[in-house]
Amino acid sequence: MNSSKTEAARADDALGARLGEIRGRIAECARRAGRTPEEITLIAVSKTHPAEMVTRALAAGVVDFGENRVQEAEEKIEAVAAAAGGARVPRWHLIGHLQKNKSRRAVKLFDVIHTVDSAELIERLERMCVEEGRAELPVLLQVDLAGEESKAGAHPDALPGLIEQAATCKHLRLAGLMTLPPFYDETERVRPFFRRLRELRDEWRGRGAFGAAGGELSMGMSHDFEVAIEEGATMVRVGTAIFGARAAR
Ligand SMILES: *Cc1c(COP(=O)(O)O)cnc(C)c1O
Repeated sequence: MNSSKTEAARADDALGARLGEIRGRIAECARRAGRTPEEITLIAVSKTHPAEMVTRALAAGVVDFGENRVQEAEEKIEAVAAAAGGARVPRWHLIGHLQKNKSRRAVKLFDVIHTVDSAELIERLERMCVEEGRAELPVLLQVDLAGEESKAGAHPDALPGLIEQAATCKHLRLAGLMTLPPFYDETERVRPFFRRLRELRDEWRGRGAFGAAGGELSMGMSHDFEVAIEEGATMVRVGTAIFGARAAR
């Protein structure tokens, strides 16, 4: 008997159980809201957790992973790719603020960038796509709906300009909108932020801003993803409820 194997099997079981529970809640909530579970992409937020956890989740059928730091993601993405041996291919989502000097690496590493919030960043990412030979990079515009000083995200008034600019880019594809509302214990209090983001998405969808795809809504985390789904989320970013609590950095 090998005790470390037993431990790994136990970790697999625990992760599988948590994933099953989250998937069940997503499906149930979608049905309640008159939607189908297939409309909702579960992004497993693996930040601070080791590559082995990602490999486990990948084996359990998770495809989409979220990371918020380029540096941390780089090592993890390499380690996961090495472990998978090309058998399963994860999709990596950057969900944290992107510093301009890391945009080249972000273009090389990530499949989708959710946190585009300035004209400079759009310009730089487009240029990096050209330089790195990347044909298409799906991006979401992060909108700051609460006007919190400390938070990243574009002011809603800046959206028209950013959307217009993104439309002129040959390589960036505007895939939708993302928001990170203030944290409230009482999840009902975030509903107006999610609703507002959906209204903005609908408005810009009507003007063709997102092309044929229709416009993703990246909103909702462990404690409030059900409210987000009720309000139309197409991508939920769930960390703690899948991987457990994060250690303080
Ligand atoms: C960490 C993070 C999440 C996941 O948060 P949990 O509460 O652990 O589910 C989602 N979105 C963003 C932008 C994050 O930084």
